[in-house]
Amino acid sequence: MDSPKTLQQAIQYFSDEQVCIEAVAAMRWMDGARCPICVGDDAKNPYYLKTQKRWKCRSCRRQFSVKVGTIFEDSPIPLQKWLPALWLLISCKNGVSSWEIHRSLGVSQKTAWFMLHRLRLALKGSSMGMKLGGPDTEVETDETFIGGRKKNMHADKKLRYEQKGGAQGKTIVQGFLDRDLRQVRAKIVPNVLRETLQSEVLKEVKYGSKIYTDDAVAYNDLRSRFVHEVVNKTESYVRGRVHVNGMENFWSLLKRGLNGTYVAVEPFHLERYIDEQIFRYNNRFTPDNPLNDSDRFLLALSQVANKRLTYKELTGKSGDAATTTPEPF
Ligand SMILES: [Zn+2]
Repeated sequence: MDSPKTLQQAIQYFSDEQVCIEAVAAMRWMDGARCPICVGDDAKNPYYLKTQKRWKCRSCRRQFSVKVGTIFEDSPIPLQKWLPALWLLISCKNGVSSWEIHRSLGVSQKTAWFMLHRLRLALKGSSMGMKLGGPDTEVETDETFIGGRKKNMHADKKLRYEQKGGAQGKTIVQGFLDRDLRQVRAKIVPNVLRETLQSEVLKEVKYGSKIYTDDAVAYNDLRSRFVHEVVNKTESYVRGRVHVNGMENFWSLLKRGLNGTYVAVEPFHLERYIDEQIFRYNNRFTPDNPLNDSDRFLLALSQVANKRLTYKELTGKSGDAATTTPEPF
């Protein structure tokens, strides 16, 4: 069978454990399995124990599974469930709830919740310190407030001017959109004070970029380093190319997922939901970059290694979400 293109094909394809192991191995180790303990050439020559579905290192003689050193480490959940769960997460535009994973894959809702958080960690990309923008490149930046009652959401901008940095229990997210790259970055910020928002601009955007913001005073004085254009939202949303509609579009996607699919998200976990939405947005289909679910799935799978999220880190409690004994190292 060819590699899957649809959810149904993915569930069928990944029903075989060996197929799952090979898929994860291929995406996490581009040039063959490596011992997680040994370094350099010593790590490079393990052999596969077919019956145990594990590798054995020729140098240190230890055995290891494909899950070690990835978001799947220590999980008793088989890859036959992890991989379809990942497929669901990258393919559903508004995200997928733990209840949906529970129903579709036959794991408890609590386990599904934990799985989704680990999978979101895999979706978290790395900007490698690369800044957005550049000469003649347009970058939008904007903030939004998340949390509180839904019907108050539209008042968030008004609130900003009144509060001078406070957010009345809401979480503030600042975002950037590079229009050429069509890439969004977003992160939680403590307040909307000028030094906070502007220091993020300096961190994320190259000097000399064209930067578009709304008329919040926090963005005054950006002109010394950027070509700064301001849109006054109360008068008109669009003045030629000067607008922040791209960011507004991203916020509405994020909020649709948060309000519709996930219902209640604690601020503590919000960053992972933002990473999830950024992954789908930055890897969406565009005419010059026609990515599909299969491409997004493989990209996500290539990001599962060197990341861990334990149940304790997630909840502050010890004990795994699943009740069976964790897989040995
Ligand atoms: Zn070794």
